[in-house]
Amino acid sequence: MPEILIVGEDICQQVVSRSDAFAAVENVFAAMAQGDAWNFPVVREALGHADALYGFKSGFDRAGMALGVKSGGYWPGNMAKGLTNHQSTVFLFDPDTGQLSALVGGNYLTAVRTAASSAVSIDHLARKDARVLGMVGAGHQSTFQLRAAAEQREFDKVVAWNPHPDMLPKLGVVAEELGLPFEAVTREELGAQADVIITITSAFEPLLMADWIKPGTHIACMGTDTVGKQEVDPAIVARATVFTDEVAQSITLGEAQHAVQAGLITASDITPIGKVINGDHAGRQSEDEITLFDGTGVGLQDLAVAQVAARVARERGLAGITQL
Ligand code: NAD
Repeated sequence: MPEILIVGEDICQQVVSRSDAFAAVENVFAAMAQGDAWNFPVVREALGHADALYGFKSGFDRAGMALGVKSGGYWPGNMAKGLTNHQSTVFLFDPDTGQLSALVGGNYLTAVRTAASSAVSIDHLARKDARVLGMVGAGHQSTFQLRAAAEQREFDKVVAWNPHPDMLPKLGVVAEELGLPFEAVTREELGAQADVIITITSAFEPLLMADWIKPGTHIACMGTDTVGKQEVDPAIVARATVFTDEVAQSITLGEAQHAVQAGLITASDITPIGKVINGDHAGRQSEDEITLFDGTGVGLQDLAVAQVAARVARERGLAGITQL
């Protein structure tokens, strides 16, 4: 009987580092751009129970031999029960036989792979001399984003804004831990100061306007992962050179959906970041260019980090093992 590995949330945190996640996500973006990895259509449904949204993200990475599905969603009542509102589990299958090979906790992995995605974009697209990091958003994902971004450039300061200012001190504590001065600013000041901006909110309207962004800025829009969500002025998307994890998602449920709907850009204006990683696109081409990464979040990222978790947990004897 084939073995099935069980890798819980605690073990995932022990065995998948930020640099592991960065490498896994960078590799899978490269494989997607080469046509070696595919995401399957996303399913996301309102359950009509517990106000929950539930769905699947799945795909196959032929280069990395990862096949599987992340299943989960959003249960808004969980917080009151002492649980995380976002819940997910990754199921990995043997690509040669279709047999289940691992069950991996998906909550920590979702945060670390999302942070890796914006970090990969900063690594490949931000100006080398970027010094000020601007954070828009201060929720659960934001601290992961800050830690991963801080490793990509020699930042000397973090400026931040959040629609709910009372959430900012938590982000400030992480900046302090990283040895970075932290300043809560207005949105206009954030745009004027930041060389790199990460947006990671649940907004449904633009939080940053085009006039506030200075030339040469790199913006990673990470919060918009659903139809109707929006974090920046479509005029920013129109002015920027736009990159994404997956074009099909970017134009339908990512930040670019609004600029596309307004007729400001089309799908052909958006470049998969994998092309930059593979050397098939130059990426940033001038110091004044505004680059924007539309990080929509794809199932292949989840499979990539879950595969690392399963492999390392097995190597270190930390995985539970069972059989069907
Ligand atoms: P969270 O609930 O912990 O924090 C929400 C953040 O959005 C906070 O900064 C909050 O102040 C702000 N916010 C809440 N309601 C808002 C509103 N109506 N308008 C503007 N801002 C609002 O959430 P999180 O776990 O930090 O996730 C943040 C966002 O990132 C969510 O939209 C989530 O769906 C998205 N996300 C994206 C990916 C991806 O791969 N792109 C992965 C995970 C999460």
